Amino acid sequence: MGIIVQKFGGTSVANPQCIENVAEKVINTKQQGHGLVLVVSAMSGETDRLINLAKQVQLQPNPREYSAIVATGEQVTMALLAMALLQRNCQAKSFAGYQVKIRTEGAPDHARIKHIDTDRILTEIKKGNVVVIAGFQGVDENNDITTLGRGGSDTTAVALAAALNAIECQIFTDVDGVYTADPRIVPDARRVDKVTFAEMIELASLGAKVLQHRAVEFAGKYNVPLRVLSTFEEGPGTLVTLNENSMEQAIISGITCSRNEVKITLKGLPTTSDVSYRILKPIGAADISVDMIMHNGYQDETRDFSFTVSKEQLPKLQDILPNIKEELRISEVQVNDNIGKLSIVGIGLKSHSGVASKVFEILVEKGITIYNIVTSEIKISVLIDEKYLELAVRLLHEGFNLGKAIEPGLIE
Ligand code: ADP
Ligand code: ASP
Ligand code: MG
Repeated sequence: MGIIVQKFGGTSVANPQCIENVAEKVINTKQQGHGLVLVVSAMSGETDRLINLAKQVQLQPNPREYSAIVATGEQVTMALLAMALLQRNCQAKSFAGYQVKIRTEGAPDHARIKHIDTDRILTEIKKGNVVVIAGFQGVDENNDITTLGRGGSDTTAVALAAALNAIECQIFTDVDGVYTADPRIVPDARRVDKVTFAEMIELASLGAKVLQHRAVEFAGKYNVPLRVLSTFEEGPGTLVTLNENSMEQAIISGITCSRNEVKITLKGLPTTSDVSYRILKPIGAADISVDMIMHNGYQDETRDFSFTVSKEQLPKLQDILPNIKEELRISEVQVNDNIGKLSIVGIGLKSHSGVASKVFEILVEKGITIYNIVTSEIKISVLIDEKYLELAVRLLHEGFNLGKAIEPGLIE
């Protein structure tokens, strides 16, 4: 029988009792004869605690040392889970990222997996061991410990599944699948049986943290069968699939939101045509990615220019803004971090018109101002005040009939 990779997130391994529950579950699966590779996150809240600790000592932690600290969270759970299995007479061994040579490249705190040496893992499986691997971490060409960015254990699991040619990569978490919206925001949200990789990449990168977007990209690229399931209850979960034709006839598969945006407005700019380029070039050169871009109103001889970046990139941006301000003689720079991005995603958007206008209608009717709108084939994103984000998710979820009681995602 083939190998299955199972990943258990923070809430699934939150305390010794939860870890014992996971061990029982794993033993049941092992009895079906599969080779098992388990990937674990740190206990829930632990990564935040470690980051906080780092920030108490260094305001902007050095990326190499940051990774050295935060990677310890997963190493605690890997050993505890192996112990819980051993305690139940199930052969198991745990490994940190460097021990199974999860090779990474790029920034130490946002590293990307480039290669995994599967020899050791396969040898241990052949010996009858359940292999438990610390998620979220790897090792670079200098043998330094690296981490993969928040939520990165999902990516570890998918990368292992790809390298081991696993039958399935199962992401066990505290919800029983992917929902039409975050069930914490919309109690009426509905679990979907299947979602395409394209939709899931959009949902994950636009705020649905149930899967890390890099994990979904990786799974799509290597065609890894990926399923989201609950650790705490039985069920089929949600399958992330390449096959668009097998989908329910929904236009919209999900609504999501992100608070991770900051809007920068530069006021009193000259109206010459090279202005956008002169602003964006140094920002790009500093490796800061700009998301939305807005040309605001012209006033006399000047105009305003706004754009959004993610909150993590703000300190880097603030380092170079004074230069841009001086060079372009900008009269004022406004930084607004009370905004958020609301997105609606679905492959059905390709073939249906009228969705954007309905989004406007629903939001404007409630007096919610839309600052910007960006569309692609399968998504519509709008920028609104952060305080209205959750309300707006609920309004759109209801407006597009995505709830449990109703036909999936049909527009009247
Ligand atoms: P883990 O610690 O297991 O990795 P996460 O907290 O990262 O779990 O992700 C699971 C959470 O994702 C859920 O508790 C849920 O609140 C949130 N979530 C956001 N959007 C969605 C969605 N569309 N479907 C399911 N869960 C979602
Ligand atoms: N522990 C890490 C985090 O909280 C990685 C993960 O759980 O996926 O971001
Ligand atoms: Mg997660």
